[in-house]
Amino acid sequence: MEWYSEINASSLPARNIILRHIDVPFEKDLPETELWRIHEEAMQRYRELYMKISGAHRSIDLPGPEKSLLDLKIELSQRVVRSCRLCQHRCMVDRCAGEKGFCRLTDRSGYASEFLHMGEEAQLVPSHTIFFTGCVFSCVFCQNWDISTRPESGKVVIPEELAAIIDHMREKGSLNVNFVTPTPHLMNILKTIRQLRNNIPVIWNSNMYYSPEAAKLLEGVVDLYLGDFKYGNDTCAHRYSKIRNYMATVEHNFKIASGQAEILIRHLLMPGHLECCTRPIIRWIAANTPHVRLNLMFQYRPEYLACRYPEINRHPTNEEKEMALQIVREEGLENILI
Ligand code: SF4
Repeated sequence: MEWYSEINASSLPARNIILRHIDVPFEKDLPETELWRIHEEAMQRYRELYMKISGAHRSIDLPGPEKSLLDLKIELSQRVVRSCRLCQHRCMVDRCAGEKGFCRLTDRSGYASEFLHMGEEAQLVPSHTIFFTGCVFSCVFCQNWDISTRPESGKVVIPEELAAIIDHMREKGSLNVNFVTPTPHLMNILKTIRQLRNNIPVIWNSNMYYSPEAAKLLEGVVDLYLGDFKYGNDTCAHRYSKIRNYMATVEHNFKIASGQAEILIRHLLMPGHLECCTRPIIRWIAANTPHVRLNLMFQYRPEYLACRYPEINRHPTNEEKEMALQIVREEGLENILI
């Protein structure tokens, strides 16, 4: 995780700082298609500046232009939320007008907690973790069901206030800001990032079920994708999380993300799902992103509604854990955390 480490060493800027240096004098009343065209053109300039900076290993300071590429991303995120396509449910509801889709969120974002998390992967701690309420999945075994099923709960995000908290935590020693369950909150997260004063790596801690529109907006914002790869087929994804078109969406997003930023994949071993989920996931990673760091997690526990699904209403056995490790060895993955 080279760039991530360089941000923490203050020898490179977080990607969002580069965005904030790119002048994009757009008009807010332009149609969305025209804004996307301007976005694509400006992203070319972002990529060129990114390459220049990464080659030179140097940081750049704020402030940037009056209207930057990050401002354009904020405007586009508002357009997307007005006919919501932030994730692949593609509900097309106007969340700014109070309409609700699958996630039952309006344009208001809330977070249940924020703190310096010491339980994330070793390179990430202390991680300033912000747990947003609501979710675009509906997992029957959700360990955070008290947060994910109450989208209206939590402290309301006021971007200036949340940015000040993130800056404060950075000054107290956080190594990153870690947005958890972020997809439906993309607009308010972008507004928050715009207010940051400090150079801090941005982590997108996600189920990777976001839309192509969201993927475009995330380029240049995210420094490290911390992505869950939960299922190895669409049937399990639909049975346990009420998700359609899971495999095509997350595989596509993992590929795109690995070209945009650094990436760490998490896979939670589920009981009885070695052959249908764990094996195909490990195989896919070995074939498509073999150098990515994989965190193979064994802490599944039957929570929430798992008791209604007898086959997952237990912990994984030691034999299943050993078999998962065997699959990793067979596929030749080396960059593994357990
Ligand atoms: S974020 Fe996803 S689930 Fe929520 S309204 Fe938008 S498209 Fe629907």
